[in-house]
Amino acid sequence: RKLFDEAKLPPEDEDAGLYAQVVFNRPLRESFTYAIPVDMVGKILAGKRVLAPFGRGNNRTTGFCVGVSEEPPTTQKLKSIAAVLDEAPLLTPSMLRLTKWIADYYACGWGQVLDAVLPHAVKQRSGTRWTVFLQPVPEEKRPEAKLTAKQQRAFESLIDLKRPATIKELAQSARCGADCIKALVTKGWATSERRRVHSRPPVLAPIVWDRPRALNPHQKAAVDAIGGAIRDGIAKTFLLHGVTGSGKTEVYLQSIAEVVKLGRETIVLVPEISLTPQTIERFRQRFDEVAVLHSHLSDVDRHWHWQRIARGEVQVVIGARSALFAPCPNLGLIVIDEEHETTFKQETTPRYQARDVAAQRSRLENVPLILGSATPSLESWLAARQRRIELLSLPERVENLPMPRVTTVDMRHEYRSGARALSGVLRRAVIETVDAKGQVILFLNRRGFSTTILCPSCGHVESCEHCEISLTFHKKLDRLLCHFCDAEFPVPSRCSSCGLPSIRYAGIGTERLEEEVTALFPNYRCARMDSDTMRSAPHYDKVLTAFRRGEIDILLGTQMIAKGLDFPNVHLVGVVTADTGRNIPDFRASERTFQLIAQVAGRTGRGQTPGRVLVQTFNPDDPAILAATKHDYHRFVNEEMPTRKEFGYPPFDSLMRVIVRAKDEEVARHASKILAARFRACLSEFPPGAVRVLGPAPAPVAKLRDHYRMHFQVHSRQPALRQKLLEMAIKDLQLPGDTEFTADVDPISM
Ligand code: ADP
Ligand code: ZN
Repeated sequence: RKLFDEAKLPPEDEDAGLYAQVVFNRPLRESFTYAIPVDMVGKILAGKRVLAPFGRGNNRTTGFCVGVSEEPPTTQKLKSIAAVLDEAPLLTPSMLRLTKWIADYYACGWGQVLDAVLPHAVKQRSGTRWTVFLQPVPEEKRPEAKLTAKQQRAFESLIDLKRPATIKELAQSARCGADCIKALVTKGWATSERRRVHSRPPVLAPIVWDRPRALNPHQKAAVDAIGGAIRDGIAKTFLLHGVTGSGKTEVYLQSIAEVVKLGRETIVLVPEISLTPQTIERFRQRFDEVAVLHSHLSDVDRHWHWQRIARGEVQVVIGARSALFAPCPNLGLIVIDEEHETTFKQETTPRYQARDVAAQRSRLENVPLILGSATPSLESWLAARQRRIELLSLPERVENLPMPRVTTVDMRHEYRSGARALSGVLRRAVIETVDAKGQVILFLNRRGFSTTILCPSCGHVESCEHCEISLTFHKKLDRLLCHFCDAEFPVPSRCSSCGLPSIRYAGIGTERLEEEVTALFPNYRCARMDSDTMRSAPHYDKVLTAFRRGEIDILLGTQMIAKGLDFPNVHLVGVVTADTGRNIPDFRASERTFQLIAQVAGRTGRGQTPGRVLVQTFNPDDPAILAATKHDYHRFVNEEMPTRKEFGYPPFDSLMRVIVRAKDEEVARHASKILAARFRACLSEFPPGAVRVLGPAPAPVAKLRDHYRMHFQVHSRQPALRQKLLEMAIKDLQLPGDTEFTADVDPISM
């Protein structure tokens, strides 16, 4: 542990620095050196924010101090820091190193990364204000100046309290005004001190404790292996592969207990969608101090949690992607549940993959990392096969619960009976299940009523004015919506292309599915869960609670219901169409299809009755669908890996996607050609074939928010080469005005 602890301490001469290195929230690779004014020496430390003159107008700009030194970098005259913004560093030395790594790997500015990883609430110090605290002067030092009777009473209340007190509470207990209290200070009977305090700590509902389960041999082997790495403080990654219900969470819980014993902290990342009260409860039932960081937190609460985490008062931090940057001072373990989920990749700058950043944090702080999944990403699977990470398997469900029976329904035969969402087989299965007092989940990954509005005479499909995306009809809103830019349009009475009044609504969304289900089964209780009906977290919790209590027979919805939920009485899951993900132009389409069916299937058979899953598809012979119906991850991997290898896709080659955007289509096309040519021109510096450039071509969403988008890809076996090529290619780059480009390193969507 020694090395690790030393690495966390700032170097001894840190206070002596006379020069500060500062980075700004700009896409710049370099840091800037400033002189530290005499009165700020010792106050400017790495990890604090400062104000410094920056840019053309030398405007005072907020930046992050990332280092201080005694030696000036150059002989030229330096500008000086204007102000220090923080009392204490917001980032530890280890978080500074982590963010630097992110900036280098994901090719963006260090200042951009720092700005992104610090929550807004922390930067704003939400919920805190300066408060004056009074303390009595010790008896021997009290002055001559006499107190009035009222002031005497106030002074006695302060002594009785035996702790620093605020003006307000003293005034209350002595039943006097604030002036009377302030006089204690001016007369020299009390000293005052200003401190930042939180106005309102959140109150949590009490919880019933739960005891650890006796582990089965597979779980025990996993907990032993992980426990060893925790105790030895080793940066080791484990892939915990086990179907839903195989006891992965129990393995996390018992591993975390080891970390708690050592007085260290654990960060648990789960997809935002799985951050349900049920998930959170399982952790709160085992550990005293759990902090949950979810997107519905108020700024006040978020800042409050952040402060407690930074003081080491929290044992377990649970949250979505960004919880990875929780300021744990003595980290002992990182867990990523459902590690294959695409939401672990951030789609705005910095475009990081939490899985890879977690591995880096684990190396920097010498702590193990657990990646858990029923359907591991192919990246993690290959790493395990090549023994770069250690595979731990939980091959069975706990207590020998059987896996659900998965059957496909061939919709090519069903379709002729009309454009219904539910096939006859699925309809009968719903009736059988509900009549036997079981519950049903119906999954459809498209919200809205109709997903295509089309003219049968000319074939025109209504699309967004700002994006090259077809519009979705939302019946309740009576509007056409663009699911990419959220623009709304009136429902047309005629085709916007040929003007004929015949319009067809095709493609079924959850809104229409709900209408069909309530019409088919008027006596069953049905609820819909998608981002249209679930605008607030309390609403979401309410529906889930009603479902758990058996007050709802059929729960239908989008991926919101596909993940993480655990309801023992769900005996039937219907996948309304397994084909939505299949036709997207993405080399990961099969992987997504497989994962989705496996996930959804995991929602049933969690009680004693074996569950049943019906998968409706027009492609019953699709290898990914076939493998998913057999619960056969290995079969899927063996089908998919050779294709990835042959075409040079991840997990074999790593990718970078360069996107060029402009308001004018021709400008975008031209700029993308120039940029791709610059990349190609640099290729001669690399071993033949080590790096490849493919494209440019229009991006799959060729127009988004009024910008035309072109893209090209860089493939390479070695990520470092790809990075080097990017740096060479964009050196002194001048693109035509109004064009922007983004490099997406290890992109997750095309
Ligand atoms: P997963 O995270 O893989 O879906 P869980 O850890 O949630 O699996 O386990 C599924 C259920 O089985 C939970 O209710 C859990 O409490 C229970 N469970 C887990 N391990 C054991 C065990 N060794 N003995 C009995 N029950 C267990
Ligand atoms: Zn749009």
